[in-house]
Amino acid sequence: MPGPAPRPIRLIALMNQKGGVGKTTTTVNLAAAFARSGRRTLIVDLDPQAHASLHVGVDAATVESSVYDVLLDPAFDVTRAIREVSPNLFVLPAQTDMAAAETELATEPDRFHRLSRALSKLGDAYEFVLMDCPPSLGLLTISGLAAAREVLIPMQSHFLALQGVGKLLETVSIVTQGLNPRLRVSGVILCSHDPATMHAREVVSDLDQFFEQARSGDTPWKFARVYRPAIRRNIKLAECPSFGKTIFEYAPDAPGAADYLALAKVLLTDWDAMLARLNDPPAVVTAAPVKVRA
Ligand code: ADP
Ligand code: MG
Repeated sequence: MPGPAPRPIRLIALMNQKGGVGKTTTTVNLAAAFARSGRRTLIVDLDPQAHASLHVGVDAATVESSVYDVLLDPAFDVTRAIREVSPNLFVLPAQTDMAAAETELATEPDRFHRLSRALSKLGDAYEFVLMDCPPSLGLLTISGLAAAREVLIPMQSHFLALQGVGKLLETVSIVTQGLNPRLRVSGVILCSHDPATMHAREVVSDLDQFFEQARSGDTPWKFARVYRPAIRRNIKLAECPSFGKTIFEYAPDAPGAADYLALAKVLLTDWDAMLARLNDPPAVVTAAPVKVRA
């Protein structure tokens, strides 16, 4: 008899080709919030700057194996590169020389799928996989998009950030037409948000409208939304990476910790509802009388 079906995995790429918008801060602290809720969570650091690795206390200069090995060698055992950094929180670290992968792999036809294949070999060992993409649309980001089911877009609520969203959605669209037809944009996470400014509120309302209008079309962002709560600007979030700590270890009472916990709860509620629907017996069965044992 076949064994039980593997549990579904939530594979998320945190992507925005703009730097400094909150991708790494969100990847790490959201992942840590999931881990604290008892979910086994893997951070995949796709940025040669290795900020996510450092943020969880792993120095890229000392790692022996990383995402780089996964990309260079299709036979590489990915579990060798994964480390547990705190209960339920794991990292597949980056390496700084990984930036060379782009040119080294230029002629490998399967280069965009190597990460995806390596992650699928992990089975259901992790319930959440969060991929921190670099600020570019090259091989590393595309590998993340090819491996993910969902895209979360961290951004800041000002006009220039909004301009980049079109380009980003276009990239996702191209990926769904070839490499990964199942990829969907789940939504935007507002980072370093200052709700007191009129301008930030206007940007959020523009984004809300944009996604509302997309409901009637058939794009990969048809069901996307702007997540609430926004992550407020909070200096503690900017301080904690240099200590190699997540916000929950560094300043658990700070607004940044509360915001990421609340956001994680929203994402977890969605996910658990989706899992419950998957596990529900079909309607015809539930409609039958239920026998209750005395
Ligand atoms: P990216 O990965 O998109 O380049 P980061 O997550 O590294 O962006 O964030 C850019 C900078 O902004 C970092 O110095 C980070 O610590 C800081 N930062 C991110 N989110 C916040 C926030 N909510 N409040 C204050 N500083 C933040
Ligand atoms: Mg980053």
